[in-house]
Amino acid sequence: MTNDLLIVHASELLTLRGPKRARAKAEMSELSIVQDGAVAVSDGIIVDVGKTESVLKEHDAKGVDKIDAKGRVVMPGFVDPHTHLVYAGSREFELELKAKGKSYMEILQQGGGIYRTVSDTRSASTDELYQQSAVRLESMIAHGSTTIEAKSGYGLDKSVELRILETVKKLGADYPTDLVPTFLGAHAVAPEFKGNPEGYIDFVVSEVLPEVSKRKLAEFCDVFCEKGVFDVHQSRKVLLGAKSLGMKLKVHADEFRSSGGAELAAEVGAVSADHLVKPSDEGIMAMARKDVVGVMLPGTPYSSFSKDYADGRRLIDLGMPIALGTDLNPNCWNESMQFTISLACHKMRMTPAEAITASTMNSAAALGLEKKVGSLEHGKRADILVLDIPKHTHIPYRFGTNLCYLVMKDGKTIWRKHQSMAT
Ligand SMILES: [Zn+2]
Repeated sequence: MTNDLLIVHASELLTLRGPKRARAKAEMSELSIVQDGAVAVSDGIIVDVGKTESVLKEHDAKGVDKIDAKGRVVMPGFVDPHTHLVYAGSREFELELKAKGKSYMEILQQGGGIYRTVSDTRSASTDELYQQSAVRLESMIAHGSTTIEAKSGYGLDKSVELRILETVKKLGADYPTDLVPTFLGAHAVAPEFKGNPEGYIDFVVSEVLPEVSKRKLAEFCDVFCEKGVFDVHQSRKVLLGAKSLGMKLKVHADEFRSSGGAELAAEVGAVSADHLVKPSDEGIMAMARKDVVGVMLPGTPYSSFSKDYADGRRLIDLGMPIALGTDLNPNCWNESMQFTISLACHKMRMTPAEAITASTMNSAAALGLEKKVGSLEHGKRADILVLDIPKHTHIPYRFGTNLCYLVMKDGKTIWRKHQSMAT
């Protein structure tokens, strides 16, 4: 059999072999680990997976790139299904205010919060916006993310929302990672529509959405459905508008209180509902019935000094397939799925295996990519990580450091540990 890359002798090869859909309940604990495992790759596609001995019998090792992963974990690349990658500026000054106990409203009054980022993003040049976002993207790749969703939502007008999505497109073309673009024009009420969310929603649906669709700039449409932002009625308007234009749907749902977001996600056939810190039981059951993936973002309460984490244990036990994302944004500058996994274990009572499934197979499903990435199986893209740890349980255990040794996209090494060190 032909192949051009062999990875051999992994101490643990996490294949996540199984049905090509989001995994729920006990399935989330099953990583299908092969000890002394190997992967054969041809033309960027996985052609064999198994014990090193049997893979070497089938595949000629002569003249092909061979990576010895002895003592290391080999696993699918992380899929980060929820990021606000493209924005300008930073809001590090808010950390001190939060530490002193200031409320979100007080921070807003002192020039912080989302409108600070909207202002910074609107005034940034196209080149500045690209450069600032590219630095983050490089860091995400270095931490093992090989497929990344990226939302708009810091323009809140027509031209800047389009500019953000154009920037996502250019970054996706320039960097060896897949970026999945999402239009989140309804992220907050634009300053020009203060006190008039209904008017802003009408503007988004009639003026911005059609242009996004015409220029094919977004695969998904998302909306911030939350009491005090956009209610269920307004959110439904945006989602159905996007659906009629052929976009897939996501919902920022029930982050601060149960606002009907989970129910709405099930009703409109969303691919995922995200945050879900306070969903109702009915909302959870409706999502489970309609196979809506629940995307949990534990970086957000962490960076917000909040004790309110989604109850991962309860949601898994109720049958919801759970994915994890960084929620990278100026309030939660988290570029690492490894750290997100650690937070999920420590703060949401997920096990290491569940959190890994949630960051690979289930997060692929949260982007509709479950047939292409998220597991190491014959026919899937060779998006592969070699980690500098002997067992997968070290990922949440050793937090705050980058455990990647090699990051591969389509069978090509795109990041390597110590790559910048002089030798
Ligand atoms: Zn978000």
